[in-house]
Amino acid sequence: MKTLLIGEYREGKLLESTYELLGFAGQLGAETAMLLVGSESQLPAYGGTLYLADASTCGEYNPDLHKKLILDAVQKENPDYIVFQHSSYGWDLAPRVASALKAAQISEVIALADGGFEVGCCNGKMRRHVKSTTSKTVLTIQAGAFPALQPGGSPSLQKLTAGGSDTLEFIGYEPAEKKDVDLAKAEIIVSAGRGVGKKDNIPVIQALATALGGELGASRPVVDAEWVSHSHQVGTTGQTVSPKLYVACGISGAIQHLAGMKKSDFILAINKDKDAPIGEIADVLVVADVMQFVPALTAKVAK
Ligand SMILES: Cc1cc2nc3c(=O)[nH]c(=O)nc-3n(C[C@H](O)[C@H](O)[C@H](O)COP(=O)(O)OP(=O)(O)OC[C@H]3O[C@@H](n4cnc5c(N)ncnc54)[C@H](O)[C@@H]3O)c2cc1C
Repeated sequence: MKTLLIGEYREGKLLESTYELLGFAGQLGAETAMLLVGSESQLPAYGGTLYLADASTCGEYNPDLHKKLILDAVQKENPDYIVFQHSSYGWDLAPRVASALKAAQISEVIALADGGFEVGCCNGKMRRHVKSTTSKTVLTIQAGAFPALQPGGSPSLQKLTAGGSDTLEFIGYEPAEKKDVDLAKAEIIVSAGRGVGKKDNIPVIQALATALGGELGASRPVVDAEWVSHSHQVGTTGQTVSPKLYVACGISGAIQHLAGMKKSDFILAINKDKDAPIGEIADVLVVADVMQFVPALTAKVAK
């Protein structure tokens, strides 16, 4: 079984998420080759075959050209799986490649399952198992679902150049609107999850954040319910954070949330369910009602 892994490069740098593709291939027990539109000065620590195209001529992002490069590498490698990160790069390119190959696409894979793949559904509340029926399959993998694996070594380079006409031009990146809070810089984050119950309870969580000298974070349902603004959201569609202390209040530990905060130095979780998945990564899990425990903790901290 063989995989062609599509690495990512942005603003002159190889993205660390590229190593999660290797973690995925490792779990699959598959041979690997990699493709990167990047630069020779930013090669992954990977001893396999790397198809390298120059981002200065092909653009850091250009779905038209990058698709052609990938199809070229697919022809040379004949992989069973073409694997992207489920990122803005991957989710735009993957269907173009799948369509060109007439291959099935399975998006947002979070685990392997019975010779197939596990993907989330119902807004992450359930999981389903999917198998492809085509000879080649295009996959996108969820950020944080597979461990980053850095095998070391230097790649054996196969340089690619994009030929043919080009209908798109990469102009540049536009920074997102400034946020009212920059969680990426916070050393302490206290996050509210759906378990806090209602908007009126958010000040209780904010009070603990303030007492600890930290910032308020939130899970997605709290943001979707408009209890706090999106700039507080932690996770794959929010911010990725790595504070010294992360306090998760009434947060179950869905993979999309964990992807954004699992690199925190110390994780304290407060949950009334002793089996909540957040307990698997928390350093301390307090099994309690968040609305009873948090005010008591805030009072202690304030003292
Ligand atoms: C494409 C996609 C992207 C996503 N991106 C993100 C993202 O960026 N960030 C994110 O957070 N989610 C994201 N999600 C949603 C994610 O799948 C989960 O649905 C979400 O993280 C769950 O939030 P939660 O833990 O607050 O709520 P729930 O999963 O409902 O968990 C609530 C928890 O609170 C506990 N609880 C209930 N009452 C109390 C109480 N009184 N005291 C203590 N504990 C209590 C429960 O036991 C439970 O564990 C995404 C989903 C998809 C499909």
